[in-house]
Formats: sequence, structure tokens, C-alpha cells
Amino acid sequence: MTIAPTLPRVARVTAEEPPTPREIPCFRCGVCCVRWQPLLGPEELRRLAADLGLSLATLKRRYTRAYPLRRGWRQLRATDQGCVFLAFHEGRAACAIHPVRPQVCRDWMPSLEQKECREGLRTLEGPPLLTLEWLYPEPEELRRFVEAVTPGDPSSTATA
Ligand code: SF4
Repeated sequence: MTIAPTLPRVARVTAEEPPTPREIPCFRCGVCCVRWQPLLGPEELRRLAADLGLSLATLKRRYTRAYPLRRGWRQLRATDQGCVFLAFHEGRAACAIHPVRPQVCRDWMPSLEQKECREGLRTLEGPPLLTLEWLYPEPEELRRFVEAVTPGDPSSTATA
């Protein structure tokens, strides 16, 4: 057997666009919230303060730090375990302000193309053999995960 015939295929594969990321349900490893803290513009600072029932000054003082590169912008504070609003329960991450979290957090798309999600999968503490049922105890989330990692057109995947 020779490997020569495979070379054009390898070249074609590496020249192609990377696959479009497929969103998976978040398995709450927390890696993204440990690593990144959102920047908040003046409008979002006001919105978040109102949603949390705080004055703007209190929100800024308690939960943010200065961000000198953009005038009027602040960054959520980091503690030694990540974002100031990040909490862990039984090894899974939870955002303490999830219903009113910043837009950039809502926009974050968990997928197996995100290095943070892959890292989270590697570092999750669970049973010695990680099962999909342990990862996604909710049947609907498990179904969405399987759908997301099934090759082919996601719109043509049969639903349960
Ligand atoms: S506000 Fe919530 S979702 Fe956003 S980084 Fe902090 S813990 Fe994560």
C-alpha cells in the first residue's frame, strides 16, 4: 500500500474552510467564565445595575474594575475562581446573575470547536468513565448534544 494517493485528499481537507461550529448545550464546566470576564459599556452597566436593583456606583464599586483602554467601559471583577458572579455547585458552574447576565455571555456559543469547551470536557470531575448521561442528565439537552455532533445537515436530523 502506498500513501501517495491520500496526499491530494489531505491537501484538499487542509485547504477547506474549517467546519461551521455546531452549538452544543453548555455542560457547565465553567472554563469560559473562569478565563474571561466581560467588558461592559456605559449602557450595559446602567442596564445591569437596574436589573440587580443596585445604584450604578454600587455596581461599579462592588463588581467591576476599571478598563482603561475604552473610555466609560468597565470589566467584571475576577476572583481567584474567575468571574465575580461565577459559583460552583457539585462541580458544575452556575452564573449567579444568569437571567440578567451581560450580552457577551449570552452570545458565547458552546461548541466542540471552542477550545474552552474541549478543555472543560477534559477537566470535568466525574465518574472515571464519563458518560453522556452524566454530562447531560436532562434528556432534551442530551438529544441536542447528539444532534449537534451528528455529521450532516443539522436541519435534516430526525428529532426524538
Ligand atoms: S456574568 Fe455570569 S455568564 Fe458572564 S462571565 Fe460572569 S459568571 Fe460567566
